[in-house]
Amino acid sequence: MTHRVTFIPGDGTGPELGEATRRVLEATGVEFEWDFQDAGIDVYEQEGNPLPDRTLDSIRERGIAIKGPTTTPVGSGHRSINVALRQEFDLYSCVRPCKAYEGVRTRFPETDIVIVRENTEDLYAGIEFEQGSPEVEKLRSFLADELDSPTREQSGISIKPISVFGSERIVESAFAYAKDNGRKKVTAAHKANIMKFSDGLFLEVARRVAERHPEIEFEDRIIDNLCNQLVSRPEEYDVIVLPNLYGDIVSDLAAGMIGGLGLAPGANIGSTGAIFEATHGSAPKYKGQNRVNPTALLLSGVLMLRHLGETEPADRMEHGIAEVIRKGDKVTYDLKPTRDDPTAVGTSEFADAVIEEMNA
Ligand code: NAD
Repeated sequence: MTHRVTFIPGDGTGPELGEATRRVLEATGVEFEWDFQDAGIDVYEQEGNPLPDRTLDSIRERGIAIKGPTTTPVGSGHRSINVALRQEFDLYSCVRPCKAYEGVRTRFPETDIVIVRENTEDLYAGIEFEQGSPEVEKLRSFLADELDSPTREQSGISIKPISVFGSERIVESAFAYAKDNGRKKVTAAHKANIMKFSDGLFLEVARRVAERHPEIEFEDRIIDNLCNQLVSRPEEYDVIVLPNLYGDIVSDLAAGMIGGLGLAPGANIGSTGAIFEATHGSAPKYKGQNRVNPTALLLSGVLMLRHLGETEPADRMEHGIAEVIRKGDKVTYDLKPTRDDPTAVGTSEFADAVIEEMNA
C-alpha cells in the first residue's frame, strides 16, 4: 500500500535533515507518495505567510505529515508554525520517546521513557494580557472588585486553563500508548499542591482515567520532585503524562538525558491528523553545512511508520539507526567525544550508514 504523506522540509537545517530522512524511509521499501509543501521563514520571506493554505490543505487531505523544524523569529509578527499546526489540526497529544541508545555519551544510560505532553491548553493557550493595556486593567479590576483577588500594578497576565476534556483525552492517550507499546506504568506530573484548580483538576482526572486501566500501573509526581528523580533514578520511569508547559520543559530535560537534542523524536497526534517532527529546532547556525544529526527526524520517521501500521519496517529502521550509533564511527559531531572530532560524518553520510545497516 502506498502512503500519501505531506512532507514539509521546513527551514534552517530542516531541508537537509528532511532529505536524509526521506532517503532512509524510502530505503525501508515502504511506498510513499510525498506531497512536498512549504512552511517556515523562507516561504514567509517570499509570500508573507509562514504557513500557506496549500500546506494546510495538503495535511487536511492526507491526515499525516512529516515536518522538518521551522524558525520562529523572536519579535516579528510571525506566529509559531508549530503552535498554529497544533491548533489547526487539534494535535492534542505530543508523544516524545526518549531512549538512551547504546553508544551515546550520557550519564543516564538506563533512560527509556516516553513523554506524553498535552499540546492545546495550559499557559500555551495564548490567553495573555499585556502590562499597561486596557484589557489587563479591565481584568485586574474584575479580579480585585468581583473576585477579591488583587494583582500588583504594572502586571502582565497569562491565563492557565486546564479542562476536564483536555486532561481526560491526554491521559487516555498516555494509557493507550502504554498498552500499544508494551509499557507498564504511567506517571502523571503536576503541581497540584499549589495550583489546586488547574493542576489539581488534571490530577483528579488522571486518577479517574487510571481506574479504567487497572492493568497499567499508575502513580503521580509533583513536577519538581519528578525532575529530581528523573536525574537520580531514571530507570523507575516509563510513560510520563504532563500538562503543556511541564511537558515542554521535561521533554528537553529528557532529550539531554539521552545524549542531546539531535536524538529526540516526536509525534503530534490529534483527532484529525498526525504530524511527526523532531523535538529540536532549526539550528540555523548549521544551515547548509551537512553537519547536524538526522537521528531525531529519522526516529520521528520510525514513529510515523508505526502510526501507519508498518511495524516491521519501523523495527528495521530503528535497528539501523541504533547500530550506527552503537558502532560510533559514522556518526555526526554531536555523538563524537569532542565537537571538533575530525572523524565525524555529515548528515547525509549518517543516513547512508543507516541505509547500509538496514540492508546488512
Ligand atoms: P535548536 O534546537 O534549533 O538548536 C539549539 C542547539 O541544539 C543547536 O545550536 C545545536 O547545537 C543543537 N542541535 C539542535 N538540533 C540538532 C541536531 N539535529 N544535531 C545536532 N545538534 C543539534 O534551538 P534554538 O536555537 O533555540 O531554536 C532555533 C529556531 O528553531 C527558533 O526559531 C525556534 O523557535 C525554532 N524551533 C522550532 C521547533 C520546531 O520546528 N519544531 C522546535 C524548537 C525550536
